[in-house]
Amino acid sequence: MKIYKKIKSIQSYLRKVASDGIKIGFVPTMGYLHEGHLSLVDRSLKNCDHTVVSVYVNPMQFAPNEDLARYPRDLKRDLKLLRERGVDTVFLPNNSEMYPDGFDTYVSVGSITKIGEGVSRPTHFNGVTTIVLKLLNTVRTDILYLGQKDIQQALVIKKMVKDLNMPVKVEICPTVRERDGLALSSRNVYLSNELRNNALSLISALKTGEKAIRYGIIRCAAIERRMRSKFGEFKGMKLDYILFADVKTFKPVKSITGRTVIAIAGFAGRTRLIDNIIVNPGVR
Ligand code: AMP
Repeated sequence: MKIYKKIKSIQSYLRKVASDGIKIGFVPTMGYLHEGHLSLVDRSLKNCDHTVVSVYVNPMQFAPNEDLARYPRDLKRDLKLLRERGVDTVFLPNNSEMYPDGFDTYVSVGSITKIGEGVSRPTHFNGVTTIVLKLLNTVRTDILYLGQKDIQQALVIKKMVKDLNMPVKVEICPTVRERDGLALSSRNVYLSNELRNNALSLISALKTGEKAIRYGIIRCAAIERRMRSKFGEFKGMKLDYILFADVKTFKPVKSITGRTVIAIAGFAGRTRLIDNIIVNPGVR
């Protein structure tokens, strides 16, 4: 497994790799890897000839009051996992490599970033799109693998790739969960046993929504009422939002008439958690 820390060196290495007609898959991560990340890695290993993974905690996507300083890190373990999986190349830049002195260019996607996560974290998506564009200019990529766990982020990146005519295919892979339904997240490490149990409020509310749709309820307001009530059964949780949005455009919808994302965000103590499912109307 090759490890690069410098943009110029990985660029020139991957230029050579690609010149042999090799298909390159890329999985960007912030490290502290779990089976969710590794499912994207496996998908790339299966479908591409060469797999690149980046591990970089991008400060630009954290607001000053967020958890950048305490974000979990374990590079040694990450590298071991990636090596065992059979990853070809790892990119490990530092902050001065990604944001040298005088850096002053930002990528901003429009209306899709103004709802959901964009309301609670107004500077977040600019940080995400700026770093992903920089990574895609660094890591030559045929297929970019992203997780449904962060569906809005994936759709924002898809929109950027389309609007800027970037020659990259974006694949969104299913959310990997614990046995009891909790979506895997690097941030789960912050949770005490009690909070971990309360964190099930997100998937429980989502399942309540799914069930309501199975019963034939299509008005989002009615579905949301049931979901809020389920969420409220978990003490110590604070709901941030529930959002119903079209699965392709992420435009908010008022009723379920096609494939729809139900996204939810909430706080377990200080830890902010997000989750989502995709539902279909009339599926019984
Ligand atoms: P992160 O390290 O949190 O920035 O995540 C890196 C990539 O892994 C993103 O595309 C995430 O959507 C994806 N990811 C994170 N958690 C999961 C999960 N539980 N299942 C599938 N993909 C995930």
